[in-house]
Amino acid sequence: MARVVVLGAGIAGHTAAAFLRKWLGRNDEVTVISPQPDYNWIPSNIWVGVGLLQKRQVTFPLAPIYAKNGIDFKQGRAMAIYPEGTLSESKPSVEFEWTAGARAGLREHISYDFLVNATGPKLNFDATEGLGPGKNSLSVCTADHAEETANKLLALVEQMKRGDRKRFVVGTGHGSCTCEGAAFEYVVNLEFELRNHGVRDKADILFVTNEYELGDFGVDGVHIRRGGYVTPSKIFTESLFAERGIRWLTRSHVRKVEPGIAHCEQLDGAQIEAPFDMAMLLPPFSGVGMNAYGRDGQEITEKVFAPSGFMKVDADYEKKPYEKWRAADWPRFYQSPAYPNLFAAGIAFAPPHPISRFRTNAAGLMISPAPPRTGMPSAMIAKAVARSIVDMLRGGGKPSYSASMAEMGAACVASAGANPFTGTAASLTVYPIVPDYERYPDYGRDVSKTFGEIGLAGHWIKILLHHMFLYKARMRPGWSLIPE
Ligand SMILES: Cc1cc2nc3c(=O)[nH]c(=O)nc-3n(C[C@H](O)[C@H](O)[C@H](O)COP(=O)(O)OP(=O)(O)OC[C@H]3O[C@@H](n4cnc5c(N)ncnc54)[C@H](O)[C@@H]3O)c2cc1C
Repeated sequence: MARVVVLGAGIAGHTAAAFLRKWLGRNDEVTVISPQPDYNWIPSNIWVGVGLLQKRQVTFPLAPIYAKNGIDFKQGRAMAIYPEGTLSESKPSVEFEWTAGARAGLREHISYDFLVNATGPKLNFDATEGLGPGKNSLSVCTADHAEETANKLLALVEQMKRGDRKRFVVGTGHGSCTCEGAAFEYVVNLEFELRNHGVRDKADILFVTNEYELGDFGVDGVHIRRGGYVTPSKIFTESLFAERGIRWLTRSHVRKVEPGIAHCEQLDGAQIEAPFDMAMLLPPFSGVGMNAYGRDGQEITEKVFAPSGFMKVDADYEKKPYEKWRAADWPRFYQSPAYPNLFAAGIAFAPPHPISRFRTNAAGLMISPAPPRTGMPSAMIAKAVARSIVDMLRGGGKPSYSASMAEMGAACVASAGANPFTGTAASLTVYPIVPDYERYPDYGRDVSKTFGEIGLAGHWIKILLHHMFLYKARMRPGWSLIPE
């Protein structure tokens, strides 16, 4: 009998646990440790954040689904990994703290044969003074944040209906943010909803981003072939914003957020104040801050985790200039180089370097996107990790399934409105996510698999995906047939 412990029940952790349960024998245990009681389909938080969906439509309780499917669920937060065991217990273990019930606050160790770290990001609002819910700006990173954002938006809409003008600032709340695609999607939805409410003429919308050019999306931009022309995503995104009257401020680090003002520092050192009545600014991400200890209790965090707090895996972490970055730097198996029974999936793994060109201001502060690890790659990585673990438990000496981001595509569908007939979407696909200039010397990507379109088709796909992925996450009949 083997025990596989999965840390985190987000897109990666939940996918890994579900497939592990499906593929492992009934005598093997699958345990999920995660601090929140609910699953959240995070991509649809965007629609919660403009008031189109309620929190209950993008979340559901995990415990009953895990109980029904034979997955052991411990509502708790992993604190430390002991990959060599301890002096009193030779098996490796995780120390976690219960976050609910009578045991809340108590700490416990659980031993494992294999461990999947899928703890996602820490939403590092503290990196920017005054940033975030409870301070001076809003977010859509969690369903609760998104509901708060919607409440603020709908209150402003009422004031606009009475004739007031309002200023909206949307974007990245720090120079080193990722998730530009989510900020882009929110601003497109916001603009659409303001039109729906009949108050668009009363709104000034500014998009603030750490991207060097619009359309970078943390993947160094993409090139789209359409009608015989190859168009960079910069033109696609700029024309989309121009048509909708959304102003933009690129190359920006939000230094401080005060009530009603975001202080932005540009890559060239210029200081710009962006006044607002409502600001939705995403935080930068870091690892969740777990430590690691050797058998003797000595701290070995640096051996397991990168300084960012994300877990080191089979990537090439050697520091090199942009011109030397290669597709092969990116991990394939997500296995810890130090401990073969330790894997990371989704946002939890440390990327070898950004995908977009790394840029700093004169003071050395990073003002360029960190690499995105969106939902589809997170789930595909988790599934590959689960498959490898199952094969290793059955006697395979090493991981068998790879899921390199340099060999998979991704889609960004910024869909506005939840109505199938009046909505619209800006859809972009890219293949591969990490450019590979050895295979695709022109643009680093296969332009025949990279496209961009604005219209109803992408919108329908987005609505379909919302329902399909929630169905899959609920582990309803046939769930495993739905692709990642
Ligand atoms: C607003 C927004 C919109 C987005 N839209 C899209 C989109 O349209 N398409 C797309 O592909 N991607 C989108 N993304 C990105 C997508 O949500 C992420 O790629 C995905 O959630 C990453 O999955 P993950 O499992 O790595 O992390 P998460 O989904 O964040 O899950 C992490 C899990 O770990 C748990 N956890 C945290 N700390 C601990 C701990 N110490 N111990 C145990 N568990 C812990 C958390 O509670 C959570 O359950 C969006 C992201 C945001 C913020």
